[in-house]
Amino acid sequence: MKNPSLADPEFLDRVALDEELTRVFEKCHDCRRCLPLCPSFPSLFDAIDGHDLEASRLTPVETREVVDLCYQCKLCYNHCPYHPPHEWALDFPKLMTRAKLVQAKEDGLPWADRIGAQQDRMGKVSCRTAPLTNAAFKNRAVRLLMEKTTGIDRRWPMPEYQSRPFSQQLDRRDAGAVHAERVILFTTCFVEYSEAETAWAAVQVLEHNGIGVEGGYNACCGAPFLHGGDLENARRNAQKVVAHLAPRVRQGLKIVVPGPTCSLQLKQEYPELLGSDDALLVAENTMDLGEYVFGVAVAKKLDREFPKRIGKVAYHLPCHLKAQNIGFRSKQILGLAADEVVMVEACSGVDGTWGMKARHYDESLKICEGLIDAIEAAEPDRVATDCPLSALRIEERTGHKAVHPVVLLRDAYGLGPGGEESL
Ligand code: SF4
Ligand code: SF4
Ligand code: SF4
Repeated sequence: MKNPSLADPEFLDRVALDEELTRVFEKCHDCRRCLPLCPSFPSLFDAIDGHDLEASRLTPVETREVVDLCYQCKLCYNHCPYHPPHEWALDFPKLMTRAKLVQAKEDGLPWADRIGAQQDRMGKVSCRTAPLTNAAFKNRAVRLLMEKTTGIDRRWPMPEYQSRPFSQQLDRRDAGAVHAERVILFTTCFVEYSEAETAWAAVQVLEHNGIGVEGGYNACCGAPFLHGGDLENARRNAQKVVAHLAPRVRQGLKIVVPGPTCSLQLKQEYPELLGSDDALLVAENTMDLGEYVFGVAVAKKLDREFPKRIGKVAYHLPCHLKAQNIGFRSKQILGLAADEVVMVEACSGVDGTWGMKARHYDESLKICEGLIDAIEAAEPDRVATDCPLSALRIEERTGHKAVHPVVLLRDAYGLGPGGEESL
């Protein structure tokens, strides 16, 4: 069967998978359109060339290499003219995820991948011990040990953990004004544990425009589990998040997400992962934060008076926003407040945990070269990206602090840091 869904028993069947891999690999080899997109395609085409152009003769090691080099940026899906509803129904990213899941079913998951995907466990412990953890992450011996146990490269710029997760910070503040319109902020694990500035900026900007914000984070969206091949935990996390959010969506609230990998996960993966009405309800009512703010502007409810200058902005469009086919919403919003916005459409090579891993780190640095060069060439006053992991990479490589676009909007309104930072 072509491109079966996760619910189909064929999805995790090795024989069916191998047939589908051969079918898709043959089509891709004939087409070659995705050659420049990522290292996965060159590796595939070289392997097929080495077997007299017969995709069916790829060895398991060669296939595994193609799968391992896919970092789920999803760019090849939209790039491919043969994706569904075309009769060939090619979905290369989904096929790579499927192959990872089958591999994990057969061989088990590597210890490092299992540990590396435990975002909540790591986030909660790191917040509780923030001063110690943050200092430890700067220690070379600790980073070497971490590389051995979790697979995270010693060079990866670990984020600074806050001493209190954002949801707890939000619970402690005065309720303030009551707003007729409200949204749920699904902060994402990254923002929840180490980037509260983005969440507070979202609260400030939305409240400034008459929209109340409720906390909505109860668990990581599960993307690292899915990308790593851990179907059971990916489903478990999706179930937790959906159970938490669906009843509030039924009360009329939208879910707003300040992270494109996570918004993509809720929108696109949950319905297939869970196959439930509630998952569909959550998916249909989830919006990326930039997408939501743009909607507020379109409805003529966004204050367009920006008393502070933010100058020239280099804006990085993350792959997982592109994959959502929602247009360039953050760029358009920034355009209301900035002197100039230079949009950079290039991959940061991080994509979840793929680019942090020691086994991919050098490849990941090569992938991000275009992004880094374009940001430097723009000579910006400020740098923005919706993706918090890309922000770490941009800062590491350019020295520019990259922030979520909503932080620049906050600054343009002259609102200053919010939440615990303002105390
Ligand atoms: S995914 Fe589609 S566009 Fe890309 S190489 Fe394969 S067939 Fe061509
Ligand atoms: S999803 Fe991205 S990394 Fe994976 S094969 Fe497609 S273009 Fe390459
Ligand atoms: S995709 Fe988002 S919520 Fe999920 S692990 Fe990554 S940052 Fe966290």
